[in-house]
Amino acid sequence: MGTLLEGGMILTVDAAQRCFIGDIYVDDHGRIAALGPTGSIAVAGGTRTIDARGCIVCPGFVQVHVHLCQALFRGSAEDRALLPWLNERIWPLEAAHSMSSLRASARLGLAELMLGGTTTCLDMGTLRHTEAIFDAAAVAGMRLFCGKTHMDLGDNGGLYEPLDRSVQDACDLADRYHGAAQGRLHYAFAPRFILSCSEALIRRVADEARRRGCLLHTHSSENPDEVTAVRAATGKDNLFALHDLGLSGKDVVLAHCVWLSEHEKELLARTNTVVAHCPSTNLKLASGVANIPELRSRGVRVGIGADGAPCNNRLSAFTEMRLASLLQKPLHGATAMPATDVLRMMTMGGAEALGISHEVGSLEVGKQADIVVIGTDRPHLRPRVDPTAMLVFAAEAADVRHVMIGGQLRVRDGELTGTSLHDILSDADAALAEVWRRAAVPGLASSW
Ligand SMILES: [Zn+2]
Repeated sequence: MGTLLEGGMILTVDAAQRCFIGDIYVDDHGRIAALGPTGSIAVAGGTRTIDARGCIVCPGFVQVHVHLCQALFRGSAEDRALLPWLNERIWPLEAAHSMSSLRASARLGLAELMLGGTTTCLDMGTLRHTEAIFDAAAVAGMRLFCGKTHMDLGDNGGLYEPLDRSVQDACDLADRYHGAAQGRLHYAFAPRFILSCSEALIRRVADEARRRGCLLHTHSSENPDEVTAVRAATGKDNLFALHDLGLSGKDVVLAHCVWLSEHEKELLARTNTVVAHCPSTNLKLASGVANIPELRSRGVRVGIGADGAPCNNRLSAFTEMRLASLLQKPLHGATAMPATDVLRMMTMGGAEALGISHEVGSLEVGKQADIVVIGTDRPHLRPRVDPTAMLVFAAEAADVRHVMIGGQLRVRDGELTGTSLHDILSDADAALAEVWRRAAVPGLASSW
């Protein structure tokens, strides 16, 4: 059965950036079969209709850097810079995940993302049990790129795995999940960051990813102490150290890139490497402000991501869009990072970054129906003037009314379809208690 979304303010994010009040017809294969002015699409009897009058209709958001395994640790690692944040809290907590606690964390994160209009994400998994994330995404209906993290150097609070086992485990996961769930799941090889990985591991992982046509995903140049440590360990600037090991190119997504030399910026542009910009995280961990306007002016491809719940503490595409724009204005002037650019980065930009812009990222005939309908019946969304500015600067995750992924309605009237949010929340509460008990991290207050 097809679906007709009627009468919304459609932001297509196509090449012409068309915006108009109209209808979208989604066929029973889950693709956009037609879009045009209100009443212009003839549909057969029995077509399901969704009233989108007075709503903004836009492409599903594509977040290019998240950690579903950390959704459970929101609030467990406050007021720390990157390295103590990792060492004192995040790594010991991740190391204490069981299959069931990781599943609870993933379901919690996926629920938050989907209720907020995110339809695709690039996730960095954790060392063990990453299949729980894929399985949760398959059930939830998310379009997911994910890979287990590799860490074969140091103890990292219990997150260590020898090289051969780590690579073999990743290859097994890629065999099992890459292309699964009607093509919604994709494997992405994910060495955590250069300081936690041997050179041999990074080379092996880069080879495996390219052999299989998978993305590569890592963290880089988030914090000045990290950059100094990389220089001490490798004798090179971070991006050059990664480049020399095969981690650069159009299939590589580097989260953060806040602290870069001139040569590194040039390298990003020259190699067509993708930057995942994470504005909330860069502020909360006091890492700095990535110079996104400059990178974009050099032609570097940039997407946006909320990163982990403990360093944000939201997974909201709306928060990240708003901040991605506001952050740059005091530094580059009020015309920097206008709403249209930011919305494009969160949709088509993300889809291009992940190599799926022929399938998602804009509302165009033939594409997968990954569509978000946002209500405007709240004071902060009136009067209705510039819909793109409303979306980027004023709207919130709670304004999302309906979310479709591949034509399947995954959020209806602000609620997840086919699953119980109550169960997701109570499973998360129970799982957190279990992880805290196992991790025995000093100083964690009790949850309530
Ligand atoms: Zn991250």
